[in-house]
Amino acid sequence: MDATAVATMPKRAALNLPTLIHHVWALSPLILVHVGALAIFLTGGALWEWLLMPLFVYLRGLVTTIGYHRYFSHRSFKTSRVTQFLLGFFSSANLQQGPLWWAAYHRHHHRHSDDPGDVHSPYHGGFWWAYCGWLFVPLAPQWRDVSDLRRYPELVWLERFWQLPGFFLAGLSLWAGGWSFLCVCFCLSAVANFHLTFVVNTYGHLLGSRRYNTGDESRNSLFLAFISLGDGWHNNHHHYPHAAQAGFFWWEIDASFRVIRLMEMMGLVWDVRRVPAHKLEPSSTSQPQDSEDDRALASRTP
Ligand SMILES: [Zn+2]
Ligand SMILES: [Zn+2]
Repeated sequence: MDATAVATMPKRAALNLPTLIHHVWALSPLILVHVGALAIFLTGGALWEWLLMPLFVYLRGLVTTIGYHRYFSHRSFKTSRVTQFLLGFFSSANLQQGPLWWAAYHRHHHRHSDDPGDVHSPYHGGFWWAYCGWLFVPLAPQWRDVSDLRRYPELVWLERFWQLPGFFLAGLSLWAGGWSFLCVCFCLSAVANFHLTFVVNTYGHLLGSRRYNTGDESRNSLFLAFISLGDGWHNNHHHYPHAAQAGFFWWEIDASFRVIRLMEMMGLVWDVRRVPAHKLEPSSTSQPQDSEDDRALASRTP
């Protein structure tokens, strides 16, 4: 690995027993939901469970995209402390670690997009490393990148116990629907959500067209936008990451932005950031992730 990669990638955590135990504990939900999904071959599933499963995939996708991505990583709208916590709680139930961890890596991705140290980049370290391999190496997130989120004790608490919402909903699934419901509706939908996130992070830089010269390999794809509820307009998103919308034009379907607009109409969120008209032009310059605008945003209340 060259010096640039070492300089820009998150540092490896010191290898000792507490680090290893913590790392295995952090990875265990990812492994458990895959085992649970494979257990479908033992439990089977009722027709109504298979019909409900896509709805759970859809709901999980919405909370990851709206919660972890557009709110915690990009602060693209304002909301109350209660809604902020609920977004964190339900996003955590997808078991992709805590909101601070997720936002720290995602902000790192935007700042070093397709640089040698970008863990998400399929252009460095190989496709499988970018897809999910990096998760299996104990890295130290750059917590200073999320100092704006660390000001909230309830988020710090959620970050510490991020497995609780998922374990609670898994227990509820088992209690309410039995083993087959747990495996089909909880585990399989969580597996789908994991892989949709991995797919956007990698194929969003491989598949599709480029409208803006963002300085990285981010691409727009209708197919990815459809399955990822909007985040597949990835070149748009890297061009102006502060916006609550990734689809910039009416024909660019963005289910997550539609839900954010609905939440705005209901008064649950406000100050929803949209793309300024002059940023729509293909010739406009891309906005860097950590602009002055962002730093001002990070210092404000939710
Ligand atoms: Zn990207
Ligand atoms: Zn982003």
